[in-house]
Amino acid sequence: MAAYTPMIQQYLTVKADYQDAFLFFRLGDFYEMFFDDAIKASQELEITLTSREGGSEERIPMCGVPYHAAANYIEQLISKGYKVAICEQMEDAKQTKGMVKREVVQLITPGTVMDGKGLTDKENNYIASITAFDDQTYGIAYNDISTGESRVTLLSNNFDDVLNELAVLSAKEVVLPSNFDGELQKKMRERDVLAISFEDNSSIDMNFSHLLENLNQAKLKQTVARLFNYLFRSQKRSLDHLQPVATYQIHQYMKMDYYSKRNLELTETIRSKGKKGSLLWLLDETMTAMGGRMLKQWIDRPLINQAKIEHRQTIVEVLLNQYFERQELREKLKEVYDLERLAGRVAFGNVNARDLVQLKRSLMQVPLVKQILQNMQDEQVNQIAEQLDPCEEVTDLLEQAIVENPPLSLKEGNMIRDGYHAQLDQYRDASRNGKTWIAQLEREERDKTGIKSLKVGYNRVFGYYIEVTRANLHLLEEGQYERKQTLTNAERFITPALKEKEALILQAEEKCGELEYELFTEIRETVKEQIPRLQALAKTVSELDVLQCFAQVSEDRRYVKPQFSTDRRVAVKDSRHPVVEKVLNAQEYVPNDCYMDSDREVLLITGPNMSGKSTYMRQIALTAILAQIGCYVPASEATLPIFDQVFTRIGAADDLISGQSTFMVEMLEAKNAITNATQNSLILFDEIGRGTSTYDGMALAQAMIEYIHMRIGAKTLFSTHYHELTVLDEGLSKLKNIHVSAIEHNGKVVFLHKIKEGPADKSYGIHVAQLAELPQELINRANEILTALEQTDVQPEPKRTKAVIEVEKHPEQQPAQLSFFDEPKETKKHETTSKEKRVLEKIKELDLLDVTPLQAINMLYELQKKL
Ligand code: ADP
Repeated sequence: MAAYTPMIQQYLTVKADYQDAFLFFRLGDFYEMFFDDAIKASQELEITLTSREGGSEERIPMCGVPYHAAANYIEQLISKGYKVAICEQMEDAKQTKGMVKREVVQLITPGTVMDGKGLTDKENNYIASITAFDDQTYGIAYNDISTGESRVTLLSNNFDDVLNELAVLSAKEVVLPSNFDGELQKKMRERDVLAISFEDNSSIDMNFSHLLENLNQAKLKQTVARLFNYLFRSQKRSLDHLQPVATYQIHQYMKMDYYSKRNLELTETIRSKGKKGSLLWLLDETMTAMGGRMLKQWIDRPLINQAKIEHRQTIVEVLLNQYFERQELREKLKEVYDLERLAGRVAFGNVNARDLVQLKRSLMQVPLVKQILQNMQDEQVNQIAEQLDPCEEVTDLLEQAIVENPPLSLKEGNMIRDGYHAQLDQYRDASRNGKTWIAQLEREERDKTGIKSLKVGYNRVFGYYIEVTRANLHLLEEGQYERKQTLTNAERFITPALKEKEALILQAEEKCGELEYELFTEIRETVKEQIPRLQALAKTVSELDVLQCFAQVSEDRRYVKPQFSTDRRVAVKDSRHPVVEKVLNAQEYVPNDCYMDSDREVLLITGPNMSGKSTYMRQIALTAILAQIGCYVPASEATLPIFDQVFTRIGAADDLISGQSTFMVEMLEAKNAITNATQNSLILFDEIGRGTSTYDGMALAQAMIEYIHMRIGAKTLFSTHYHELTVLDEGLSKLKNIHVSAIEHNGKVVFLHKIKEGPADKSYGIHVAQLAELPQELINRANEILTALEQTDVQPEPKRTKAVIEVEKHPEQQPAQLSFFDEPKETKKHETTSKEKRVLEKIKELDLLDVTPLQAINMLYELQKKL
């Protein structure tokens, strides 16, 4: 190290503490990076890699970004999951002998972005911390540093729950003790956690002890303390906007695992990973950024407490019924700025005067909003009005102090109103008088010299000057004017009197600037004291915004208020899939009923591909979720139980990120449902078993249905293309067959998307093949084969009824009784050779929608050869 220049040595000393971050090292007007940082940053940011002498033999790789454009580069790095340490010069280089002192002033990480493009208005940006305790529990705390909100909970010995929470939060960064299990860290990264950071200090510090007062368990405190220690260590500044930490329990909310949330496309679609096309997208009629964030939180955590749900419903109902008031309310809310993030930036010290004007304008809406709510004359709505605190002191202060259109910069002045501060007014007078004097001087000089084009101007280098064109120079009196600058067509002069005024003006302006900055800081500090009030207001406004959003969507889309059943009955009339309905066109969407009760726990849905099975299943789940977040639902009448959990296994979206096979994912999702579901849960299984061979898949599907039917009793929608399973209703009394109907029109299949009782017609698959215009010869042959197969009676025998009853009586004997899954016995009357069996199985496994006519002919040819 000794060989390096002092500057590089300084760099290396600082860098040693920030190994896992890019060190932005301030050198004059640039942030420079060196060594490996430089090489990596030049690639990531596509900037030029250079090098410099550093005292050693080899030149040192270097790249840099201008400090005024740094924000953009920092954002790019953060969005890729990197961290950036900002190292500033702590002394004025001109006044220092030797090396300027440099220090890291902030560590910016994916989870600690405070402003800029790294933050999306309607999304929280969460950082979480996790602590694994000896008793096998996990503590998880999270915080959004831009809003100051923090929550903490304890989870039992199941890391899946931790992963679920991280997924619900879309946590960008996770803070762990440095000895945290490496395998588990890997799993977190697979769930889109961008950055993992380490913090071993989990003791409570003076800085934040007051925020932990609500927490009654040491484990909770420790988990939060780890997170806060990290935040204070990395941010190195005031975090006065951090709100007291609240606790929560995951069982206070409807539980949905990661897969289910993803499959139901609640907040983003599976394919694009974007909001468009999701339930959140459909619902988002919020008018404020804060409301948008809260809406997402509510969708992520539907309620299970009936009273709380009904409270939301009541307010939605009032807002829904008062159209004009609601529109007025929406207008006013639109004017409300992001109070929550603004409060954060006030604490952070990075608001400008424009932000404070925005704050004032937002606060000025509050009394108007209150009035609108009071006009609605409803007790519960009135309670919200009562809660709205207009923070008049803040509004008054800002109104008196800050001009309507202040500049962005805090250093240019022109932010503070005349009359707010006497001293400032005096300086301003001085400067204005000086300017008036100058204007007058110009007039006088023109009169005196008779030069009409004479003018007094100002520039940064020479200050005030008198400018006379070359042609008029002879009119000036000798000796009175001192020549300062020569231009092509004119000369510029100064006079002693002009310089004297100039000094006064400039001095006054400088003082104005300084004083304004000082006053601004004072105002900001005063606002800072009101942060808790602003945050409470923000919360009430957010809730109100989401409730009006529900009312608006419910009206626009003709939703109805759901009732809650106590006997776990589901009765939804004319149910629709909210998103598909919106995308299609209300007229085209075919509504369907759904009825389930204690005699109808499992609905087995059959019907051709593309007939609408999974849409139907999803719409029931989405309806339940909408009901439990307090919104109305897409139906003409709806009664639903309050579901404790929703599980789904839908579609075959490959889980590419974790590198698991589709079938494995399918089984994991199924396991999750089967091990966690209760009687009060809702399970959706779409085409379970598709990912493996026919018998294998069918056996699994049937076993799952039986298990759910006998052991769990959860309300279950199970779609399948294994027609053989439809006979299960003979053995499982609470299982009912339903199907999606289709009709033949001119020899073709037309999907009606209409759900009907009973199993589907068996030969739909062939109809669909026909629709796909496979050769008629092939279709005829398929019909022949089907008939033959039906005669071979390879399907599960309804005899099973007895077995099922036996199992119900003696569950422990189940495996022995379930000989049912055995390979079908060959029947005597029809001797099928093993060759034939293989051919038949091949035909059964064909996915006819997936083959071209040519491929089909080739396949037939191959099959024929085998016989
Ligand atoms: P399946 O699960 O039976 O293969 P899907 O549920 O994926 O079928 O539905 C296929 C398509 O049919 C959907 O993309 C949707 O556009 C349309 N669809 C489904 N249900 C309805 C309905 N009730 N009304 C109108 N169109 C529907």
